[in-house]
Amino acid sequence: MRFGVLGFVAALFATVAVGAEARADDVAARAARLHRSAIVIDTHEDVPWELREHWADLGKDGATKHVDIPRLKKGGVGAVFFAVFTSAELAEKGQSAHVALELVDIIDRVVADHPRDLVAATTAAQIRAAHKAGKVAVLKGMEGGHALEDSLGILRVFHRLGVRYVTLTHTNSNNWADSLGDFTRTPYDPARTRKHGGLTAFGKEVVLEMNRLGLAVDVSHVSPETLRDVLAVGKAPPFASHSSCRALTDNPRNLTDDQIRAIAAAGGVVMINASSSFLDDDALKAARASKSAARADMKPTEPERKLTTLARYVDHIEHAMKLAPGAVGLGTDFDGIPDPPADFADVSYFPKLTEELLRRGHSEREVRDVLGEAFLRYLERVEQRAASPL
Ligand SMILES: [Zn+2]
Repeated sequence: MRFGVLGFVAALFATVAVGAEARADDVAARAARLHRSAIVIDTHEDVPWELREHWADLGKDGATKHVDIPRLKKGGVGAVFFAVFTSAELAEKGQSAHVALELVDIIDRVVADHPRDLVAATTAAQIRAAHKAGKVAVLKGMEGGHALEDSLGILRVFHRLGVRYVTLTHTNSNNWADSLGDFTRTPYDPARTRKHGGLTAFGKEVVLEMNRLGLAVDVSHVSPETLRDVLAVGKAPPFASHSSCRALTDNPRNLTDDQIRAIAAAGGVVMINASSSFLDDDALKAARASKSAARADMKPTEPERKLTTLARYVDHIEHAMKLAPGAVGLGTDFDGIPDPPADFADVSYFPKLTEELLRRGHSEREVRDVLGEAFLRYLERVEQRAASPL
């Protein structure tokens, strides 16, 4: 040995240092490559409600707070579920189906206005085809089962209009399913919205009809008893379109470890919400402290917010991945939340997420699963269940 032991050790350190730098560059390049080829799916964005309040051309920069076509492209987004969201107030006024139909129309018009960039989709195969064609697939997810106005006929009509999931409740319990309520109300009291102790007999019929049609049952917002009943009676797996991990942040909208395991065991997936108040206890406290945060899951009313980081978002994703490998994805709630992480501020930031997951040592396959493949497999399971008699 020409350099002796010390020289050898020095050379080894130099090699390791250069290696680390090279690896860092390598991760960025790998992330960019992986992100371009992966199908990135976000299962909850409240774009239609934003556009109904303030109409804008989605093709223009800044069309809504968190979403426009230029940012969707920069973010490498392959498919989005635009929310057909109606509030508890609309349910009280008997206007929820009416407004839901207007939101369906808004989504269809936005897609029709941008045929080069967007394409309507209702199936996993159509999402894959859109990705191949270089377009963003736009799907519809109804949030707030009250918009069905207690009618299986209306459910079937919304299915024909392209709706492919229904979040059984919003912050309000409806006539057939209990909600977990409004997490921003303090003190938080789940008894406030406990009306049935889960699903009623008709609520169970709604779930089975959704299973038969191939409409995914979304359990974000529902009470623990409703989730329990969905798991017990459902013939197809449910999913959570925009919830995070209760073990990391004690927001009642988040799922407990047992719930995450149970949803995955049934064949469902958990799509992680990017609201700071879902990801970080201090941000949750800030949201609750602010009186105007009463509708924090849907309206950006507060002037001041405590924002968390992309790293914290990834902490929640990783926690769910440990409990439910291959059954975790992204349901940011962009445009429905006032407080995404400062460094994950809108749909253009998805490539940063891919890079962070790779840096943490996850395999390309695991990252692809989180970005969209886990959800695609889930959607295929829902479709297969619909294709076979219950
Ligand atoms: Zn929501």
